[in-house]
Amino acid sequence: MRQSLARELNDLLERSRDRQLRLAVTGLSRSGKTAFLTSLVHQLRHAGLEARLDLLPAAREGRLLGAKRVAQQDLGVPRFPYDQALAALDATPPRWPEPTRGISELRLSIRYRPAGRPLFRGDTATLTLDLFDYPGEWLLDLPLLGHDYLSWSLAQPLSSATDLNHERRALFADWLDGVESLDPAADADEEQLAEIAALYAQGLRNAREAGFSNLQPGRFLLPGDLEGAPVLQFFPLPELSESERTALETLPEESVYRTLVRRFVHYQQHIVKPFYRNHFRRFDRQIVLVDVLSALNAGPERFEDLSQALATLMQSFAYGKRSLLSRLFSPRIDRLAIAATKADHVTPEQHANLVALLEALLADPLQDLRFADIPVKAMSLASIRATETREVEHQGKRTPALRGTTLDGEEVLVFPGEVPARLPDTAFWARQGFDFRDFRPAPRDNGGLPHIRLDAALDWLLGDKLQ
Ligand code: GDP
Repeated sequence: MRQSLARELNDLLERSRDRQLRLAVTGLSRSGKTAFLTSLVHQLRHAGLEARLDLLPAAREGRLLGAKRVAQQDLGVPRFPYDQALAALDATPPRWPEPTRGISELRLSIRYRPAGRPLFRGDTATLTLDLFDYPGEWLLDLPLLGHDYLSWSLAQPLSSATDLNHERRALFADWLDGVESLDPAADADEEQLAEIAALYAQGLRNAREAGFSNLQPGRFLLPGDLEGAPVLQFFPLPELSESERTALETLPEESVYRTLVRRFVHYQQHIVKPFYRNHFRRFDRQIVLVDVLSALNAGPERFEDLSQALATLMQSFAYGKRSLLSRLFSPRIDRLAIAATKADHVTPEQHANLVALLEALLADPLQDLRFADIPVKAMSLASIRATETREVEHQGKRTPALRGTTLDGEEVLVFPGEVPARLPDTAFWARQGFDFRDFRPAPRDNGGLPHIRLDAALDWLLGDKLQ
């Protein structure tokens, strides 16, 4: 007890001296969070040794002396499985680390020599860096706090058939069949609700497998220890309308409708709010990872869906003083990075377009962030570079291409295609010819972990704290 008090006091002191930073990493599933955090920890631990961090001034100037892992503050949060991740990368053949599925944390103590201090004085400083990784899907639940059950139900993309949700509805066909026969006024049958809820969760999983991103509620896909709990057994009721509100609200407590309302409210109060209150509110800085390239590869409906999911996700950051988030939790994120990951899937001359496309995809949220005066930077990076760039002769011209090893171990040389600098139009989708495939990570060379611009991301996120 006394020890933890001492640690908290110490933390408080470090914070007041600006020597502690809580940095959070998020993104939708498979956006590359686990790879990013593994690489980030590796690069900082190997700064001044094998790590190449030329875009981080403290490292370039030889002032970054190293980083070591120390015991984290919050013992209730799982530790980020760094050793397992590294073991996967070092396996023969190398494997990608297993993705994390909930929130995890890792604390690094970084030693550096403040800028402008001469070498011989041997004066060093320490920055305590708390790293958090959590699913971006959880942020898709923020808007749910601004709804009641009926308005949430009405806002769901499946609530009525339109031209645009054809594919989505097909993936939820079993659920749609099940929910059709459900009368909101009937007495709730626990088992029937559990079954229909399971079909809804299955629909969400189908949709995710099929490449959709805008999937709510977020915990249904990543339930963690809530698997099977009744709080996750609700779903929207299609075909309702606002004009029925009064009639619905006067239904008896035991009715299907009122039961779903109670579960929805419980989910808001006991699942969504605690995440914002206990974790999100305490982050200082944040990086949001986006797998733009896979969405581009998956076609127009998925791409549009990613765009909507990101607009929702970004509501957690673009908060003005009167936003729902500010009113509820007073968050304090003071700097944000948005990164298109897996840039090693395209040749280097495409990277500028990749950033431009990311900015186009996030145009509205970026505008809101700038308006709210929150510094934000868009970038492209590869946390763990799995390919090498080569030049090949193609129709008498020298063209850049990528060499890598596929997940099945086949060595390939590919020109993956061009990234549009603007949101793709119909003409683009008609002639789109991408060749994006998953590559296996390369065996580690001399202990280093190759990356693209991870150092630039580090500079934006913590460079000022290493001055
Ligand atoms: P998470 O679900 O957000 O934690 O995503 P992961 O970090 O597990 O990444 C998902 C997959 O994306 C990995 O298994 C890799 O196949 C791929 N990936 C992630 N980062 C990179 C990268 O920097 N380069 C390449 N080529 N692939 C990556």
